Amino acid sequence: MAFKNWDYFVSAEEKTDIKCRVCNKKLTGVYKNGQTEMYGEKVDHWEYKCSESSKAWHDRVYALKQEAERTVSNRLRQIILEEAEEERQNGICL
Ligand SMILES: [Zn+2]
Repeated sequence: MAFKNWDYFVSAEEKTDIKCRVCNKKLTGVYKNGQTEMYGEKVDHWEYKCSESSKAWHDRVYALKQEAERTVSNRLRQIILEEAEEERQNGICL
């Protein structure tokens, strides 16, 4: 599954600096001709989706990063982000 604004982005203009917030991969846009319902109407747009989306490790890193954003504890966040980084590095070379 892809998660909007994490590993899936929609933009009205082409951008060259979009990275997956889960695995840090640089994303390449695909031009879509009026196929989105993202804004409640059909408009031309660029779509950016990580090629690693939906892979088990990618979903896990996403879940960990979500968890890190949720916690109010700085120490916990650090531990969770360390684990997320380990999983990311293991996953990216699969
Ligand atoms: Zn990714």
